[in-house]
Amino acid sequence: MKVIIATKNEGKVREFQELLKPYGFEPVSMTEAGVDIEIIEDGETFEENAHIKAKAVRAATGLPVIADDSGLEVEFLGGAPGIYSARYAGENATDKERNEKLLEEMYGVDRPLRGARFVCAIYFILDDKREYCVTGTLEGYIGDEPVGDGGFGYDPIFMLEDDRSLAELDESEKNEISHRANAMRKLAEELSAEK
Ligand code: IMP
Repeated sequence: MKVIIATKNEGKVREFQELLKPYGFEPVSMTEAGVDIEIIEDGETFEENAHIKAKAVRAATGLPVIADDSGLEVEFLGGAPGIYSARYAGENATDKERNEKLLEEMYGVDRPLRGARFVCAIYFILDDKREYCVTGTLEGYIGDEPVGDGGFGYDPIFMLEDDRSLAELDESEKNEISHRANAMRKLAEELSAEK
């Protein structure tokens, strides 16, 4: 079954293409589907924003849609950047600039206070009657400097408990443990519980 992945983020598209394979879905990116709409993400939670994106792309295509809203919550910063992760260093900033800003904010903060988690809310619209919302997380801490060149976004400064950064994992390893993978597993459980 064709499923539109409601994101323009190439990193997310790549990950979803891998994550959706075992579940028998045929992922189609917005670009491939010819969907070019501007979506205002003005929700107050990851779940609300994922719903907004899924609804907009569903209205434009009429096809099954999977949307994710994700971001990084840093304990020392009271959960920031959270739902503002993409805009943390301004609208047109790069991943590198966002990472630099976060490292500056965390400069001199000791390891026990550097705890952080990635959060991913997935909203899946299967048809006019069936909609699902699930959330997955990944726990870690903010490193002192960027490490590794895999993944995307905040991966180089997000450290796992084994002291590797998320950007040091290859794609398949990240897809085993990530917040997005954990949310996908929950979605799969919900879908199979219905069968
Ligand atoms: P969204 O596209 O509005 O969901 O924004 C997500 C923000 O969080 C972007 O800045 C991403 O780079 C970041 N982000 C989400 N998932 C990941 C991830 O798996 N690794 C690194 N950064 C991520």
